[in-house]
Amino acid sequence: MIILVPVKRVADPNVKVRVKSNGEGVDLSNVKMSLNPFDEIAMEEAVRLKEKGVATEVIAVSCGDAKCQEVLRTAMALGADRGILVETTEELQPLAVAKLLKAVADQVQPRLIILGKQAIDDDANQTGQMLAALADLPQATFASKVTVNGDQVEVTREVDGGLETLAMDLPAVITADLRLNEPRYVTLPNIMKAKKKPLDVLTPASLGVDVAPRLQTLKVVEPAQRSAGIKVPDVAALIDQLKNTAKVI
Ligand code: AMP
Repeated sequence: MIILVPVKRVADPNVKVRVKSNGEGVDLSNVKMSLNPFDEIAMEEAVRLKEKGVATEVIAVSCGDAKCQEVLRTAMALGADRGILVETTEELQPLAVAKLLKAVADQVQPRLIILGKQAIDDDANQTGQMLAALADLPQATFASKVTVNGDQVEVTREVDGGLETLAMDLPAVITADLRLNEPRYVTLPNIMKAKKKPLDVLTPASLGVDVAPRLQTLKVVEPAQRSAGIKVPDVAALIDQLKNTAKVI
C-alpha cells in the first residue's frame, strides 16, 4: 500500500512575517521557511502506518519552486521513502495544487493520500477537499485518529460538536488535524540518509495541468494593533474595570 503525502513549504510558524508596503502580499525575502506543521503530522501518520506494516511505501510530493526540495528532504528525513517535486515558479492556488496532486496520484496510485488540514500561510483549507472531488475519492477531513482495516479506513474527525467517526473504502483522502499525533524529531543520521533517497522532478506541463491562477488577491493588510493593557492595583479595581469598561465581554 502506497501512501502519498503532499507537503508545502511555508514561512516558519515561529517567524513574524510582515506585509509588503504595496499591500500585494507577505514579504518572504530572508524569512526562514519550513515544512507546513500539519504536513509534518500527515507525514508522521504515514510513517507510523509503514512502521506498523500497513503501508509499504510513503511518497512525499511538493509543488512549487526548486527550494521545495528542502521540505521534501525534511519529509524524507521524517521517514518518506522518496520525494516528487512538481516544479514551477508560478503562484499556485489550491485548485492548481489539487489538480497537480490528482495527476501525481494517477501516476503513483496511492491507497491513501494524507494531507495537512491547511497550509499555515494562506489558511485556505481547500486542497484536500478539492483533490478528493477531482479524484472522485471519499474524504475525511480534520482527522484525529486513523485506523486502516484491510480495504477500509476508519477516521475520527474533530468536528464542532465533538468527534465523528467515519469508515471509508480505500483509496481515500484524509486531512490531518493537530491532535492526530506528535511528529518525531528529525535526527542527524536521518537527515544524512534522506540526502540519498530518490527525488524525481516533474513539471505541470509534463502532467498536463494548467496552473494559471483563478483568484486575484486584491489587498493584504496587517492585523489591527492591539491596544495597550492597564495594570490594576487590586481585585476590587479589576472588578470595577470589568464592570465599567464597555469593551470587556
Ligand atoms: P491549503 O488548502 O492550501 O490550506 O493546504 C492544505 C494541504 O494541501 C496542505 O497541508 C498540504 O498537505 C497540501 N498542499 C497545499 N499546497 C501544497 C503545495 N504547494 N505542495 C504540496 N502540497 C500542498
